[in-house]
Amino acid sequence: MNKKTIDDLKVNGKYVLLRCDFNVPVREGKITDENRIVAALPTIKKLNEDGARLIICSHLGKPKGEAIKELSLEVVGRRLATLLGKEVLFSDDDYVVSDGTLDAIDEMQDGDIMLLQNTRYREEETKNGKLFSEELADICDIFVNDAFGTAHRAHCSNVGVAELKEETAVGYLIEKEIKFIGNAVEEPNRPFVAILGGAKVSDKINVIDNLLSKVDTLIIGGGMAYTFLKAQGHEIGKSLLEEDKVEFAKEMLTKAEDNGVKLLLPVDNVCAQEFSNDTEVRIFDKGEIDPEWEGLDIGPKTVEIFEKALTGAKTVVWNGPLGVFEFENFAKGTLAIAKKLSEIDAVTIIGGGDSAAAVNNLGYGDKMTHISTGGGASLEFLEGKELPGISVIADK
Ligand code: AMP
Repeated sequence: MNKKTIDDLKVNGKYVLLRCDFNVPVREGKITDENRIVAALPTIKKLNEDGARLIICSHLGKPKGEAIKELSLEVVGRRLATLLGKEVLFSDDDYVVSDGTLDAIDEMQDGDIMLLQNTRYREEETKNGKLFSEELADICDIFVNDAFGTAHRAHCSNVGVAELKEETAVGYLIEKEIKFIGNAVEEPNRPFVAILGGAKVSDKINVIDNLLSKVDTLIIGGGMAYTFLKAQGHEIGKSLLEEDKVEFAKEMLTKAEDNGVKLLLPVDNVCAQEFSNDTEVRIFDKGEIDPEWEGLDIGPKTVEIFEKALTGAKTVVWNGPLGVFEFENFAKGTLAIAKKLSEIDAVTIIGGGDSAAAVNNLGYGDKMTHISTGGGASLEFLEGKELPGISVIADK
């Protein structure tokens, strides 16, 4: 994948519409985590320094076509201005691009920055409707997509508008996601090891299937491991089980064998009788979990085996925690693997969502090569799918 980036553009004096992912958590009018705004700054600064008339758009939450005040982007505009140390015009417009906004856009000078109102105030946005796409295309000469979190969806503000523009590019955030998640999975340095965890097999069916054609070793932990252990005929007590995925798990065990992929599952489990941090904990070997107990983390022998499998790896992709990392007593497996990844000489790529939260909360965030900014989008990349918000952008 070799998409045009903002370094390939000449934006001086041009109207550039930049799609960002400013979908930040806001509580009582305050942004509680501004990471996504901070992450967008390099792209914004580059376009600004190059003299663009920069119009930024994003969604926030799910207003579903209604102008819900709590989901106004005004608070983001103010924070963005502070972070940039520069004025950011905010167009408080329920229609997003009504005449008042168009007039303000007309008056913009080179180097000005404007933030539009929440694109999901418009009902057509998530349906990729024609009118809103055209209206967005009409206000810009060039379209830039830097919202990886929504790149797996075809909406007006990332796909509809891009289809109508000759000049398009990705920003630095998406460029990085393509480089690490897209290309690393397609052309990895080997050995290539994938680690999959999290609650459910059903969320990751296509990821497991796709990765089994690519990796040298697949490590499976977390809640999803128990459906695989069941497929091998082991007792799993009260551990998470997706009965209707046992057949699929069997197929994947066979696929791994056929493809010569080493598939590693837990050999011991940290178990509890209740889903709680403050409860008695016992370790059971594979196949020996008592009926009243459920596996909530990988055990120490498993950690050792997984660590060994990671030694010497050159590319590692990790999606999904290996236990209930939110509870301290069941975070040890996830912690040990995060630590191991921080020590090996490999390209280490962490999927978005829970895996990113786990690695960051455990203090290893800055030790990884790349932490994806999009949960759903990074999963679809790992499934080998084309993301509409990226494929619509011009190639170099
Ligand atoms: P996912 O969103 O599929 O990556 O799942 C993440 C969630 O899986 C986290 O909230 C973990 O607490 C949960 N999880 C991980 N391992 C287990 C397990 N053994 N049993 C139950 N839940 C788990």
